[in-house]
Amino acid sequence: MFHYEAPADLLKDRIILVTGAGDGIGRSAAWHYASHGATVVLLGRTLEKLESLYDEIENAGLAKPAIVPLNLDTAAEHDYIELSNQLYEEFGRLDGVLHNAGILGMRTPIENYDPITWEQVMRINVHAPFMLTQTLLPLLSQSSDASVIFTSSGVGRKGRAYWGAYAVSKFATEGLMQVLADELENTPNIRVNAINPGATRTRMRAYAYPAEPPETNPTPDEIMPLYLYLMGPDSRDINGQSMDAQGEGSA
Ligand code: NAP
Repeated sequence: MFHYEAPADLLKDRIILVTGAGDGIGRSAAWHYASHGATVVLLGRTLEKLESLYDEIENAGLAKPAIVPLNLDTAAEHDYIELSNQLYEEFGRLDGVLHNAGILGMRTPIENYDPITWEQVMRINVHAPFMLTQTLLPLLSQSSDASVIFTSSGVGRKGRAYWGAYAVSKFATEGLMQVLADELENTPNIRVNAINPGATRTRMRAYAYPAEPPETNPTPDEIMPLYLYLMGPDSRDINGQSMDAQGEGSA
């Protein structure tokens, strides 16, 4: 596991948007960001899940979050622009974005891969983070220390049979992160990196490996040190890196 002990006020007064905040790793990240002082913007497609996390954060006496119900499968350019305008009006800046929402699609040979599913996976896993990043960059540039984190996967670094669009989308995610990080190399107030969570106990993992006992893998809460490190000021000098939440390393 990546080793990092975050100070309690690591993200004090920061405004951080998390996609796919209603479940799995995104829910845990949003909760941990909030409990380290951030005001979190909870983006997801299932309103009840976002509301339940909202209540949990509010009941814990943490900074009041914001909810953005948005289906990244059907969102159009104007939805992203509207979101950016809303956040600008409410907060005037953004200090972090965790691109976490994603879908698995099918596990099947390329030969049989359903083209509609292929497009859907690419839309949610790649096109949505691109659109969000593009429309939110002006808000991120208003921050003195902004962190953008993409979510990768082991199959986004080395292709693996039957992982189809999911693997290809994660290669594209690594590419998007690298291109953007390089473009922002001389923009010291915005850094861009990726996290490979590694096998983690979520609905997606259970769907991908139905026969695997869930307790084989760490919970989302257990992989949070890297999510906190890369979002907070201690990672200020890190840009263009793809890091493993369950890998070795310390900070
Ligand atoms: P998960 O439990 O299935 O959660 C995925 C989240 O994405 C959910 O909150 C889901 O919302 C949201 N989402 C899916 N489609 C969406 C859409 N069209 N619009 C808006 N939100 C949408 O998955 P997870 O395991 O936490 O995965 C989180 C990230 O880690 C993904 O990018 C995944 O590829 C990556 N990852 C996971 C593992 C692992 O072992 N778990 C390993 C490597 C990489 P709903 O709850 O409303 O459906």
